[in-house]
Amino acid sequence: MADTITSPTTTPEAVLAAAQRMLAEGLVEGTSGNISGRLPDGLVCLTPSSVAYDTMTLDDLVVVSLDGSVVSGHRSPTTEKDLHLSALRRYPELGAVIHTHAVYATMFALAHEPVPAVIEEVVVYIGGDVPCCAYKGTGSVELGDEVAAHLADRGAALLANHGLVTCAATPEKALHNAALVERTAKIVWGARAMGATIHPLPEKVNRDMAGVYRYIRDNPPVPAA
Ligand SMILES: [Zn+2]
Repeated sequence: MADTITSPTTTPEAVLAAAQRMLAEGLVEGTSGNISGRLPDGLVCLTPSSVAYDTMTLDDLVVVSLDGSVVSGHRSPTTEKDLHLSALRRYPELGAVIHTHAVYATMFALAHEPVPAVIEEVVVYIGGDVPCCAYKGTGSVELGDEVAAHLADRGAALLANHGLVTCAATPEKALHNAALVERTAKIVWGARAMGATIHPLPEKVNRDMAGVYRYIRDNPPVPAA
């Protein structure tokens, strides 16, 4: 990575659009899950706590500093904000984080088992298998630290007994990663239910495609002037 990186940034509109698509795609239900996006001024736009996605508006979003202080918005930010802020503080090349309770991914999280990178696109978009973090209390600073450590070279991680976190340059790409992990977890679960032997990708393919992931992550889109 270059010594200095210009962080990718997004807009509240993109955070809201991803939140509503996350609901439409069945990755969350009710008010569970949450999304963050890095804004051009270095602040972070977060979805609020306890507001339904289908009626959520731009006015419901909350802007916080990277240390979690509320800067604007009349709602409370998601109680899981440390999940987001710890990753955005640690990795300047990231611009968005999404947390969902997607069903199949959460099945692996209950088993404390990684979602294996047995499909090529998972290595390209996620960097490899989706690791499972150690259990830490929901909403805790410790959970934020644990998750951020697992996102060093991955676009997704499982939260033990809880759900899924994904990250990317933009909310749209982080949502793509969430849908990809969920689909992969479903496919692996189904293949196992068939009694199938799941074959790993060749090691060279894994290595080369993980390199592609790293390159894309370290060269995020330049924010519009
Ligand atoms: Zn959660």
